[in-house]
Amino acid sequence: MALIVQKYGGTSMGNITRIKNVAQRVKRWYDNGHQVVVVVSAMSGETNRLIGLAREISSDPDPREYDQMVCTGEQVSISLLAMALQSLGVDAKSMTGDQVAIHTDDTHTKARIQSIDTDSILSELNAGRVIVVAGFQGIDEHGDVTTLGRGGSDTTGVALAAALKADECQIYTDVDGVYTTDPRVTPKAKKLSKITFEEMLEMASLGSKVLQIRSVEFAGKYQVPLRVLSSFDEGDDGIFDDKFKQTVGTLITADEGDDMERAVISGIAFNRDEAKIVVLGVPDHPGIASAILSPIGRANIEVDMIIQNMSENGVTDFSFTVPRGDFNKAMKILNEQVKDDIGASDVVGTSDVVKVSIVGVGMRSHAGVASKMFETLASQNINLQMISTSEIKVSVLIKEECLEKAVKSLHTAFGLDREDGESKVAG
Ligand code: ASP
Ligand code: MG
Repeated sequence: MALIVQKYGGTSMGNITRIKNVAQRVKRWYDNGHQVVVVVSAMSGETNRLIGLAREISSDPDPREYDQMVCTGEQVSISLLAMALQSLGVDAKSMTGDQVAIHTDDTHTKARIQSIDTDSILSELNAGRVIVVAGFQGIDEHGDVTTLGRGGSDTTGVALAAALKADECQIYTDVDGVYTTDPRVTPKAKKLSKITFEEMLEMASLGSKVLQIRSVEFAGKYQVPLRVLSSFDEGDDGIFDDKFKQTVGTLITADEGDDMERAVISGIAFNRDEAKIVVLGVPDHPGIASAILSPIGRANIEVDMIIQNMSENGVTDFSFTVPRGDFNKAMKILNEQVKDDIGASDVVGTSDVVKVSIVGVGMRSHAGVASKMFETLASQNINLQMISTSEIKVSVLIKEECLEKAVKSLHTAFGLDREDGESKVAG
């Protein structure tokens, strides 16, 4: 017998038929003698609908009221799933974040989980019940409902699995695992049977949308075995016994494996949400980077890649990237508050750029990975506007129209293409 936390996303809970299917799946685990805690998201589209309502009243709604409202989508899902389970004869009970007691800080709209009371859930499980918990929500020290940021149900699932010391946290979604890259960009993308927490964290922060970043951080920190798998696959019936840990979906683990066959690169991530800003002709003296970036930081704009060119005659160019949604705001700040102050000649920018990254723990023990990336892109005539690296990733900023060509050529160059032709996952 194992204790399993399963999380079902909005698509899996998208309508009553799907909710009934989720109930069937949960029942199969339950009937096989496992203890199951289920975490669910709001039905697909519901959270967006609720946010839309709030925006019709205010572009900047009060965060407490926003949370109070936006958490209701999950409340509907938990009750519907509990009813569906009951109608299959499974003793099930739904619980909100408050009822479980998922304690968070009071940063409304992006709260962090601080602790979870496991007593009530454990006693319900021991009484033979399936517990269905609302994802995405918690309660702060003032007794106010908080939410965990978009995609936060993943984090609820992982945090519950950590607190309950579950054998596995299973994230059921509309894809059957984590892929080497987005199959919509190259049909040769293949499903990974395993990936490390570190790699998954890079993939998530570099643009892969399979899991909320915070949930991966949490899973890595508490070493929760995490599995991404499809809620639409019928093929998992072999995994109900004690040896359920087989190659279904993608397992995210701390284990790097000693597999000699392991590819140096595990995946290729990309992010379209990038814009580049160049401050031209700035005097090259101490304090310039801070004079440019501090006002940007104060406006809560996240700066990603940064380059300062070598100076010529005492002046230099300073370039950096920001999320596309903050591009206009950043340009305005620089033009109005910074340019004249620091004596820059001009501020120019474009949102016609994307970031493409290769990720792999294998990079630590292999030389020449970055140069292979640059050669591959050069052979495709793709110009690199910026480069950044860390221990397990290399990222380049390129023109948006080159995205597909870049991903496809890198995927082939690093030996990631499926051996069996093309994936059926597309569209
Ligand atoms: N319903 C929330 C959202 O759409 C949380 C989640 O689905 O994980 O962001
Ligand atoms: Mg999600």
